[in-house]
Amino acid sequence: MTNKNVLHISTECYPPAKAGGMADVVGSLPKYISKEGWKPTVITPRYNLKWFNTHELTSVYSGSFEMEGLPTNFNVYKAEEGSLPFDYYCVDIPGRFDRDSIYLNEFGHGYQDEPERNVSFQRSVLQWLSDPNNKTSFDIIHCHDHQVGFVPFLVKKTAAYENIRNIPCFYTIHNGAYNSRYPWTRLDLFPHVAPNLRQYLEWDGKLDAVATAMRFADHVNTVSPSYLEEMKQQLPSLQFMSQKEPGKFSGTLNGIDEEVWNPKTDELLDKKLVSSVDKFKRENKEEILSELYRVSDVPLVSFIGRFAHQKGGDLLVPSIERILARFGFVNFFILGSGDAYLEKFIQSLRDKFPERVACYMGYNEALAHKVYAASDFIVMPSRFEPCGLNQMFANRYGALAIARKTGGLKDTVIDFETGGLGISFDYDSIDDLTHAIARALQLYKDSKEYKKIRSAAMKVDYSWSKSAAEYCHIYNQLIS
Ligand code: ADP
Repeated sequence: MTNKNVLHISTECYPPAKAGGMADVVGSLPKYISKEGWKPTVITPRYNLKWFNTHELTSVYSGSFEMEGLPTNFNVYKAEEGSLPFDYYCVDIPGRFDRDSIYLNEFGHGYQDEPERNVSFQRSVLQWLSDPNNKTSFDIIHCHDHQVGFVPFLVKKTAAYENIRNIPCFYTIHNGAYNSRYPWTRLDLFPHVAPNLRQYLEWDGKLDAVATAMRFADHVNTVSPSYLEEMKQQLPSLQFMSQKEPGKFSGTLNGIDEEVWNPKTDELLDKKLVSSVDKFKRENKEEILSELYRVSDVPLVSFIGRFAHQKGGDLLVPSIERILARFGFVNFFILGSGDAYLEKFIQSLRDKFPERVACYMGYNEALAHKVYAASDFIVMPSRFEPCGLNQMFANRYGALAIARKTGGLKDTVIDFETGGLGISFDYDSIDDLTHAIARALQLYKDSKEYKKIRSAAMKVDYSWSKSAAEYCHIYNQLIS
């Protein structure tokens, strides 16, 4: 059987460039779709990050286009065969992506030239694809999130890329709260768009990547079924378009890469799981807690994630204070970065309870793996969560999730009191969160029951197998 080819276009992919869950998805879904007869390829920008500077990359294409009257030059590089479990290309656009952070400047704010960056990346990829001398061809283009949301329109409606007009486009919404919305004057960034088509780039008076993607992609999905329903309530463009063409929209739960996230083989863990989960937990607690504060055998509740309104870190701090006032036998570890106000808030909590609360401000992949391995609970007080991956990593590493019932968390974290393997709560309130953590600590005290649930949680199949088959089923429909 000849393979069918799919190109994933994304601004993140693990391990070369990760800022959050989208990287995990783009770095793992391709591995699993290759088991379904599809040959995956991924293309991202080339950043000034360690991976790019330590792997062999060969230039395969050089191009140039005019943007706002000025030439933009770019190079497409291919990573050496075998460096990733799929073909991987990256686009070098000097001055735009050769930075040591994917999205945020040194002050934690988005880059000012985000429109130029995103549009130049999309145009570079499409110019490379549509060049008649390019021998690499694809049956499906799969676009990930708003940064590349104009691709389906550009492919189908602009003369610049008419060679590839017939390739179906799939669009995945990883997080509908983010979008690329530009004033009309930024139309200069695009190749020529016929005047009668300009209206299709617009939503509410601005050029809108997500709305455009939803109009022109052949299929659109969100990363969990519940999130699709929530988004229909919140995103007027999705509500409108899913009413017009309901069959075009679906929700597919993310999976995780069970080879990367395997506590027995994880290269980022110094203390791997051998046979005893208790020993695994103890050793990892000793490792991450020893330098920071007193080691003890009390339960560890951790938070890993962005300090953004979405993730509910602001609810967590007062909730931890309340828990510490009531329970002496609990420690907390907070790993994350983002909102400067929240960072200070968390640091002041740590200063107040130096023996009970540890924190690390910044992005640290290896530490995240160790925190999952050390923790007994991972807390996720998200206000909304398109899918959430932490709860799955947590379970694999023997930690239960304490999660708010929203989006993908609703689909994956079922409360232990109703037969599930986690602790869930309804509202994004300090009271509800505190009550959920307190229930988790009560469960932990019942060691036999806790370990029974933990053991079942570690065995849950979170792999991509089922969801990858769903993706490929839709790909097959799109090309038939
Ligand atoms: P997001 O909305 O941020 O994409 P997800 O739950 O989908 O949330 O994925 C978050 C991913 O980022 C997980 O792999 C998590 O372990 C990782 N992560 C988040 N913050 C940090 C951090 N400060 N250091 C290391 N890893 C982090």
